Amino acid sequence: MVIAIDGPGGVGKSTVASRVAGELGLPHLDTGATYRAATLAALEARAAIEDAGAVAAVVAAVDIGYESGWTTLDGRDVTEAIRSPQVTAAVSPVSAIPEVRTLVVAVQRRWVADHGGRAVVEGRDIGTVVFPHAAVKVFLTARPEVRARRRAGDAETAGRAVGDIAAELARRDHLDSTREASPLQPAADAAIIDTSELGIDEVVAEIMGLVEAIGER
Ligand code: C5P
Repeated sequence: MVIAIDGPGGVGKSTVASRVAGELGLPHLDTGATYRAATLAALEARAAIEDAGAVAAVVAAVDIGYESGWTTLDGRDVTEAIRSPQVTAAVSPVSAIPEVRTLVVAVQRRWVADHGGRAVVEGRDIGTVVFPHAAVKVFLTARPEVRARRRAGDAETAGRAVGDIAAELARRDHLDSTREASPLQPAADAAIIDTSELGIDEVVAEIMGLVEAIGER
């Protein structure tokens, strides 16, 4: 059973996905971390980000690992490095390269298969492309100013002005939603939850209700 949790940055995806996974005793895959690891590899190899072929060749040659919130690149812990401003600035253009998506989606599907096919998977295109037959599909949204305020509370953005964070989120949303390969959009059969006025507990309870409704618990 796959539970797909999609949505833009700052909606609370990671917190909610890890809570739902904990309640269900399932592993949790943050697919954003896998794209960030691919981006770090491209930056470290000094590939020109606009050179799709060069970036894809780098990504094809590295081993991206993820386990319990820790991300590795060729076995090296890059959990912190993938949250750097440089990676955050380059991750949307890198993720828009179709060959990169093919490679990274293969990593994600293998990861879920290696975990017995049962997982909570968060991202942008999980319910639409990566696991179109997911048992439960959720698309989280929130008003832009709420998302920027939430991001401002994250360690990686500590000390930055909310206005700057809002601008960066808007830029990434635009790139993620308008790219040709797997744009950020809700699956036709996803439950859309606006988290602007909801606390984490309420969002988790709503998703647990959806899981119970399919009788898989
Ligand atoms: O979730 P996070 O902010 O770490 O994701 C970083 C970036 O990775 C997103 O802005 C998006 O460009 C890309 N991404 C994606 N598809 C996913 C997950 C993330 O394209 N399933």
